[in-house]
Amino acid sequence: MRAIIIGVGQCGTKIADIFALVDFEVLAVNTSRGDLEYLKHIPPERRILIGESLVGGKGVNANPVLGREAMKRDLPLVMRKIASLVGYEDVDVFFLTFGFGGGTGAGGTPVLAEALKEEYPEALVVALGALPLKEEGIRPTINAAITIDKLSKVVDSIIAIDNNKLKESGDDISQAYEKINYTIVERIASLLALIDVPGEQTLDASDLKFVLRAMGSFATIGYAKADASKVKSLSRLIIRSFENEGLYLDVNIEAALYGLVAIHGPPEALKAKEIFEALNELTRRIRGKQIFRGFYPDPREREVEVVTLLSGIYESRSIEEIVMTAKKYAVEFMRAKEEAEIKKRELLSGLPDFDDIYP
Ligand code: GDP
Repeated sequence: MRAIIIGVGQCGTKIADIFALVDFEVLAVNTSRGDLEYLKHIPPERRILIGESLVGGKGVNANPVLGREAMKRDLPLVMRKIASLVGYEDVDVFFLTFGFGGGTGAGGTPVLAEALKEEYPEALVVALGALPLKEEGIRPTINAAITIDKLSKVVDSIIAIDNNKLKESGDDISQAYEKINYTIVERIASLLALIDVPGEQTLDASDLKFVLRAMGSFATIGYAKADASKVKSLSRLIIRSFENEGLYLDVNIEAALYGLVAIHGPPEALKAKEIFEALNELTRRIRGKQIFRGFYPDPREREVEVVTLLSGIYESRSIEEIVMTAKKYAVEFMRAKEEAEIKKRELLSGLPDFDDIYP
């Protein structure tokens, strides 16, 4: 399975940089020259500066309208670079990594996604983004709402990772981001590593593509792991991966259309009866009833690891909160603006023409 990772903006290129560390094919796109130079693992020829004529390599200061404009202006350059570095052969999926709350990633990713869908009609385009922390305030929330709206019209799936859910209390923000970025890469990498592995009951690229081709709706990753000798109930461990504690976004899993479950561990721990019990439970719970599964017995393993992907979801508390907050803000802002206009008119009405007073 050939997956290409394109990071957009600071958050997106930092995540992409970790994908490069674990040998994925990666590109980085940003409006900030400094942020591009700061990357460690993506080779310089795979870093693309955009919007230089607009912001002179200084970034867009969390303004997604500028981010969108920067990507639009330099889209021919970006697409040429992608074509020359990636080619057109056998691309199964583009993962676009970005932060929902910023400017370059939030504004630029939907523009790039649309161009990729046109240029690579066979490939999936999946947005893989981090949702802003609540304490960041209103601007990132509005940026996220705008970006959710735009992406949902162009990509196949949106895998949103809620920074609020993954941040551990006590961590400062940069530590928290670094840990979250590693977690995101580990999960996606471990899922992709299990695709097209030879075996009887394994997952192939068409299974993953089926699950991710979901009309721009949300998808979420789940995860659970335990020492094989300590697993009392395998079905419980599997179920934990797709319950809220295991998921990286608060969603109503009952609203999901598709599910994919990969289970990896020592052969004696992968008891078929318990696996089917858990998978039947998942099938029963999700609305779409379509589950793909892969079993990976590995005699060298001592841990049981479950990676889950649920997709086709439109019900998520994290997303609803962002969209409702942005809507409420927009309504209140427009009302305040109208009231200011009225106040201005009232205040200045009846004021004589002073030209007549000071002839
Ligand atoms: P851009 O460069 O203009 O696209 O802006 P950023 O990429 O800095 O996006 C800012 C948003 O992304 C913020 O709202 C943060 O919540 C989030 N963010 C920034 N850096 C990171 C990071 O390294 N990891 C994660 N998970 N989120 C980040």
